[in-house]
Amino acid sequence: MKVLVIGSGGREHALVWKLRQSNRVRQVYCIPGNGGICAEAECVAADVRNLDSLLEAAHRIQPDLTVVGPEGPLSLGVVDEFQRRGLRIFGPTAAAARLESSKSFAKEFMYRHRIPTARYAICDSPGEVRENIEQFRAPVVVKADGLAAGKGVVIAKSRDEAMAVAADMLSGKMVGEAGGRVVLEEFLEGDELSFLVLSDGERVTPLVAAQDHKRVGDGDTGPNTGGMGAYSTPTLVDDAMRDWLVNHIARPVVAGMREEGAEFRGILYCGLIMTARGPMVLEFNARFGDPETQPMVMRLESDLLGPFIASIEGRVSDGDFRWSQDSSVTVVLASGGYPGAYETGKQIFGLEDAAAMENVVVFHSGTTRREGAYFTAGGRVLGVTARGPDLRTAIDRAYAACAKISFDGMHYRKDIGARALRK
Ligand code: AMP
Repeated sequence: MKVLVIGSGGREHALVWKLRQSNRVRQVYCIPGNGGICAEAECVAADVRNLDSLLEAAHRIQPDLTVVGPEGPLSLGVVDEFQRRGLRIFGPTAAAARLESSKSFAKEFMYRHRIPTARYAICDSPGEVRENIEQFRAPVVVKADGLAAGKGVVIAKSRDEAMAVAADMLSGKMVGEAGGRVVLEEFLEGDELSFLVLSDGERVTPLVAAQDHKRVGDGDTGPNTGGMGAYSTPTLVDDAMRDWLVNHIARPVVAGMREEGAEFRGILYCGLIMTARGPMVLEFNARFGDPETQPMVMRLESDLLGPFIASIEGRVSDGDFRWSQDSSVTVVLASGGYPGAYETGKQIFGLEDAAAMENVVVFHSGTTRREGAYFTAGGRVLGVTARGPDLRTAIDRAYAACAKISFDGMHYRKDIGARALRK
């Protein structure tokens, strides 16, 4: 089988790495890929923000299956367009991906279907923000409605700051069109959890849970990033909690979307906060997370192709995934300055030494390859991923691998998974 993966990050590298292990997969293609992916798959240049460009590339490749990594092409309707042309593709349609691409849609959907989430108000103007702000105690969370690549959420320390941030979003100054509408939200306290399920529009089956680390600095300090690391352990969610999340969140979401005429097929990613009042949904994503996919695939013992096809063919079942009892962790190595401005083109050293370590895989995010050497090409550069019989071992292995890698300006968090160890 020929499989095409769309995207260029660590998530896509992890998907390519795992799909290649399937004995049914003969060849993997990736649009556009990155330095690490291109060493394992055939990379094809095309514009992921342009459906015509993706379709044209797919016609050349003739894949038996296409897997979409990022949210952009999903919200543009890549699944709708491929399906219309008889191309088999894994993921939700644009209408179903609205769970991610419109925060106001997701909030109103959760309200209609009684899915636990933070209190909110949807505002289309600074006047509406002023009318609604009194309902919220500081800190107030301000979110741009549309896709903003992780830059659309601000936790404002005061109501005044929230009003100023909302005004900047609404004016288009902050995140462009994505901020044309804003959602004010109650601030929730508790541990964050990424809970993902595979759906075929009707049935769901859970994947192993993971925890992301969004802030740039140790101890969860500094600005938000796309994710500086993640881990997955068998103890992160016990069986009772997993069943609760399936029954009270994942199943009602999938049933609700079906009821509303927008069947959700693909990966439903529930971003949760485990509050004292119980789990609450912060956001949905209509795809795998990055970096969480990296530690997750590290624990996946069964094939990844089968579940994707089961989703497309409407026969998802609990036997689709078999997971190891190991723990896994990914530490993101980032460019100097990230998540602010950063330089690219720095040569990366030590990759082979790190990759030669047992139970370690170095997934590439922002890299390019030239004449056998690798160079930085993004903010998040590498996802150094390790597994072990327990979290401590996985963490030690990952950091031992990080110590072998270097590039000018490289920085990373030293405490990925540390909070779980203290518990
Ligand atoms: P989102 O894109 O909605 O997941 O928001 C990005 C990050 O902002 C989340 O991962 C949380 O760390 C934080 N966040 C979002 N909404 C809330 C909330 N209601 N309460 C506390 N933190 C939040």
